[in-house]
Amino acid sequence: MGTAEKLSDAQWRSRLTPSQYQVLRQSGTEPAFTGEYYKHSLEGEYHCAGCGEPLFSSAAKYASGSGWPSFYEPLSDSAGERQEDTSLGMARIEFRCGACESHLGHIFPDGPAPTGQRYCINSAALVFEPAGERESPGDS
Ligand code: FE
Repeated sequence: MGTAEKLSDAQWRSRLTPSQYQVLRQSGTEPAFTGEYYKHSLEGEYHCAGCGEPLFSSAAKYASGSGWPSFYEPLSDSAGERQEDTSLGMARIEFRCGACESHLGHIFPDGPAPTGQRYCINSAALVFEPAGERESPGDS
């Protein structure tokens, strides 16, 4: 469930923390081993910090050792979209939120079975929702 509305840069800036803004809206990368979720192993879902869209299940999270939260697949094919990213002189696949188009992280082909993919996602791009809890109020 995402906000379909288009927000201006000023609106994004005011609704996000500085680290969320830098990752989500400026395609930044948080330093490895600093985020809230890279060691996190509770059961639940990880939602987009920009719009609340459900992105990943804890069931697909694994310890990659990279220092960023890592998943082998998203919750659904429509949860995010892949885009070529050639910034920093590297050919990478960027992963963006399918609902609000915010930058989440990158996808690398060195993940575990069953997909062989590693969705390397910034903690700052995610909000964890523990299993068994309902969507936030306003989910109507
Ligand atoms: Fe989003």
